[in-house]
Formats: sequence, structure tokens, C-alpha cells
Amino acid sequence: MELIRGAEELRVRVDGPRSAGASVGFVPTMGALHGGHASLIRRARSEQDLVVVSIFVNPSQFGPGEDMSLYPSDEAKDVALCDSVGADLVWSPPHEEVYPPGVLLPTPDPGTVGETLEGAARPGHFAGVLTAVHRLFDVVGPCAAYFGEKDAQQLFLIERMVRTLGLPIQIVACPTVREPDGLALSSRNAYLGPEERAQATCLFLALSEAAELAMAGEREAAALIAAMAREIGATPLARLDHAAVVDVDTFEPVRRLEGPARAVVAARFPSARLIDNLRLPTAG
Ligand code: AMP
Repeated sequence: MELIRGAEELRVRVDGPRSAGASVGFVPTMGALHGGHASLIRRARSEQDLVVVSIFVNPSQFGPGEDMSLYPSDEAKDVALCDSVGADLVWSPPHEEVYPPGVLLPTPDPGTVGETLEGAARPGHFAGVLTAVHRLFDVVGPCAAYFGEKDAQQLFLIERMVRTLGLPIQIVACPTVREPDGLALSSRNAYLGPEERAQATCLFLALSEAAELAMAGEREAAALIAAMAREIGATPLARLDHAAVVDVDTFEPVRRLEGPARAVVAARFPSARLIDNLRLPTAG
């Protein structure tokens, strides 16, 4: 496995195998890698000839008041994990390799969906995500890129960006990897103290309750949202940020469950803000 810093170096390194017919799988990350990231890399390994993982903490997706310098980072550990799950190349660029000074990068528009839910809580977040992901795609030139359903709104916006711009990249959605008690793995879980960690299961409990209600035939989104809000509201260290039910094809809130939908939640703990979501079952 090779560790590469420069964008041009990476481009050249991938060009060779690609022009010889190799398929290129790409897993963009912000480092502090865990089992969720590992599952994406393994999936890419099982489907593509060459697997590239990027590690880049993207400043433009951090909102005002969010301290990027506190974001966990341990490059040596991340590189070892990438190696152990079969990555071929790790691209860990300095800032100027992603945002070359004096170059105006394309800034794909996240549209109105980019201003709701996570976008409402973190102004400018999705514009920052799309700018960085577009730039990473441009340098890596992947055939397929792997993203977690854990960040469902991000996944939706990236799929839409690829479709609207006609980028020749297959976006592969990968299921959320969870702790045994249901908490979705996240780099931000590292911030949680023991009590917060114990209570952090409230997100998954809330989503599971919504799924059970849907399974039992409840069709009113308001009833599912109320159940989720109750569960998170009853958790002493959690403060509900949002709970919603969205259409999977538009990511717009629905009033009634009539087609495929996803329940999404965000909650603030004293040391971290956590998000999660779950595809809702359709009643049999
Ligand atoms: P991040 O490093 O947080 O930007 O995440 C990089 C990629 O890993 C994104 O596509 C995330 O959706 C994905 N990811 C993060 N957590 C998980 C998880 N628990 N299960 C599956 N994928 C995840």
C-alpha cells in the first residue's frame, strides 16, 4: 500500500492502472477511521481492481462555531487500518492539494435540500461537502465511490450531484455499521464520556421505535416524529436537534408514509452532536 500526498502524484498513479483497464474504487473519509469506514473499504476491495482511500478533514464543511482543530486524527493508525483491509493507495493531502491557491473550484449547488435538517443545523455544510467531494472525484477519477448510509442526506446530495452533472461515477451506498447496542459508529463517538456513551443509544432506540410503529401500520409521519422526540427527550444528556421522516427519492419531509421513507434524527450531547437514520419498513 502506498501513502500519497500530492494531487498530481495521485492522479498519475491512478491513471496508469485505469488506462490499462483497471476499475478504480474510491472511499473518501475525514480520517479517525473505524469499522464503518473499514466496511466501505472492504466493499470497494471486493468490487474494484484498485482501491483509493482519501483522508482529508475538509475545512469548508465545518460550520461557524464548529472547531475543526478538535476533530480526532491519527494518521498512522488510519493508514494501518487502510492497509489491513486492502486499500492500495491512501491519499492524505495537505490543504493546498485539495484547494490549490488561486484556483476557483466548481461549487456544485446543494439546492434547498442542502438547507434542511443537517444543512439547517450546519449552514454551508453541504456546499462544503459537495465542493470537496467534486474536487476529490476530479483528482481520483473513480469508476465507483463508496459512501455510508449513516450520512443519508450527504449521500442523497452526492448521488444527485453526480446525476445532474453527468459524472461517470457509480455511487455505492453502504449500510450503517453499529455497535452491539445500536449506536452508529462515528468518529465523533470518541468525544463522548461514559455516561454520554451509555445514553447515546437513544438515537437508535428512537429510530427503532419509529420503524416499529411503521411496521404496525402507523402512516402519520407526525406520530413517528412524536415517538422519536419522546425517546430522545426522555434521555437526560441528549437534546433533540431534529427528528423527521423524509421521502427517500427527494429527501423532503412527508406527512404520510406512502412510499419508501427514512426516519432521521440528530441530537446534541454535551460533548458531541450525533446523527442517525433508518429506512422505514412498509407495513405488510
Ligand atoms: P467521515 O469520515 O465521517 O466523513 O465518513 C466517511 C464515510 O464513511 C462517509 O461516506 C460516511 O457516511 C461513512 N461512514 C461513517 N460512519 C459510518 C458507519 N457507522 N457505517 C457506515 N459508513 C459510515
